[in-house]
Amino acid sequence: MSDAARVDPALDTGRGRGPVDVSASPSAARQPLDLDEVRLEPGFWRRRQEVNAAVNLPAGWEQLEAAGTLANFRIAAGRADGRFVGPPFHDTDLYKWLEAAGWQLAAGSQPELERRVAAAVELIAAAQGEDGYVDTFVQVAAPDRRWLDLDWGHEHYCAGHLIQAAVAVHRATGSRELLDVATRFADLLFRECGPGQPRRLDGHPEVEAALVELYRLTGEASHLELAAHFLDSRGRGWLGAGTHGGPAYFQDHVSVRDARTMDGHAVRQLYLLAGVVDVAMETGEGALLEAAIRQWDDMVRRRVYLTGGVGSQHAGESFGEGWELPNGAAYCETCAAIASIMLSWRLLLATGESRYADQMERTLLNGFLSGVSLEGGRYFYVNPLLSLGEDAVLGRTRAERFPWHDCACCPPNVMRVLASLGHYLVTRDETGLQLQQYAPMRVRTSVGGQAVALQMSTGYPWDGEVEVVVEQSGGAPWDLALRVPGWCVEPELTVGGAPVEAAREGGYAVVRRAWQPGDRVRLVLPMPARLTEAHPRVDAARGSVAIERGPLVYCLEQPDQTEGTSVLDAELDVRGPLEAVWRADLLDGVVQVEADGTAPAAAEDGEPLYAPLGTWRARPRVPIRLRAIPYYAWANRGPAAMRVWIPRSD
Ligand SMILES: [Zn+2]
Repeated sequence: MSDAARVDPALDTGRGRGPVDVSASPSAARQPLDLDEVRLEPGFWRRRQEVNAAVNLPAGWEQLEAAGTLANFRIAAGRADGRFVGPPFHDTDLYKWLEAAGWQLAAGSQPELERRVAAAVELIAAAQGEDGYVDTFVQVAAPDRRWLDLDWGHEHYCAGHLIQAAVAVHRATGSRELLDVATRFADLLFRECGPGQPRRLDGHPEVEAALVELYRLTGEASHLELAAHFLDSRGRGWLGAGTHGGPAYFQDHVSVRDARTMDGHAVRQLYLLAGVVDVAMETGEGALLEAAIRQWDDMVRRRVYLTGGVGSQHAGESFGEGWELPNGAAYCETCAAIASIMLSWRLLLATGESRYADQMERTLLNGFLSGVSLEGGRYFYVNPLLSLGEDAVLGRTRAERFPWHDCACCPPNVMRVLASLGHYLVTRDETGLQLQQYAPMRVRTSVGGQAVALQMSTGYPWDGEVEVVVEQSGGAPWDLALRVPGWCVEPELTVGGAPVEAAREGGYAVVRRAWQPGDRVRLVLPMPARLTEAHPRVDAARGSVAIERGPLVYCLEQPDQTEGTSVLDAELDVRGPLEAVWRADLLDGVVQVEADGTAPAAAEDGEPLYAPLGTWRARPRVPIRLRAIPYYAWANRGPAAMRVWIPRSD
């Protein structure tokens, strides 16, 4: 009998679980730990969580008021007059904020946040119709259009975020009020859009993963059935007829089981696949899981940026063609990085394979984290790999992060990831624990029925030394597995100071023993700065290199360079050494990487755009010192030119 089945189903089902609870899922290979079983300690990620709680969440609440998101609910509830404002999916800004607040409340009492959550939940409940429907756009602006504009109306998408918010608030606080709202809406969805109601398929996948999570919480089979129904319905071309991109934009051009490539709108594609893996973990259907893995492979082989960002086309916010990865024109929506993390996490739980944790690490520390400012409260929608230091005249590319946006999907999405980060760090199975990500933390859980406590100390991501001290363990042996990141060449492992030959099982160093309190495991992941090349078909990176160090991707940003030289003209000498320097005073503390390079001896105005062969090679160049910072930290000192891929000179 699982833990979930032992608690009183009326009151406490799933209390304390995180965003994905596969404790009773027949086909999950790994289990996440509960919310109170992993606690981040002071360090890199804890600092981001603190900023999230102190700045992002309070400022976000004010933005929800200023943007009219809360007002839409008041109008729908009959408490205010006015017109609906914002895009049709405006409700989801509140839902994602609520989900973040829910996970944040799991960390302990926070009266101001609790008041806001209670007010929001009460307001949503008041806006819900008698039949369970709640979507303020339709209720206020288009009451006769229910389910009639599903290509662009986002009604199921909004329902999905409502469900995820309700799951979070319930699991973190035990409160049922929002869960009751979400369950009533899910029941209505089943009646009005479920089996027997063809063509009621939403243009924006999201609700599938949410419904599976609701099923995991309530045990109500219709929630899972509805999620599977929505997956099974795709591939018939119902969506997108006559619009740009056609059905492929909506992943409605091919059935989910036959899909081979990442296509269309990036966030839609990745949320859809998160739902695919969730359903597969419940039903055990191999064809679904294989399809998701096939598409994930397509992504990492041909369609993902070095930063983990995805979506290389502004047109349709879409995955580009294979190897189509432009730098300045990259879209890399912050939400797409988040959706990629959600997919990789589910694949990790489904398979136990470390490559998914590797990709999560790359995405979390680079393409995701660049989406939020160091001080908090400001966000990128688009995360390019090259910036001229100016906003795009057209489009969403900005040289500086913005506090909110008329399409504010990314900010509260960032908040919910940061607030729930502890969920994504450690897993377990019947053999032991797997340390998937490295950060100072305390882990207190159980393995094979025995209580286990660990403390992890590390300076990650600046320093690759990870020390794990066993604080509690029973007498029976169990496996401690530590992920060896794909970027690491020669890891060293010691137990109690003695080198051990750990079994290398699929990307993990595994030590099995009867652990005793006081046992120390030390993993050293050497992280010399290194140069990386892209596949030659990535035209935008041809002849260029990128600097990486450990899990971090670096960039050149103008404020760090020698005066009079532009990062846009810089070349990096690949024969020279790379030097890593800790800079406590810079950007909240970073390791800077220095390299030798060159720049034109003198910038000249009025140069032609094109010239005979050899013109630029003949221009005198002078040696310069290049100073690179982690990509996530760029654009925190005002608008400035930045590049990840650097032309090589050798
Ligand atoms: Zn977004």
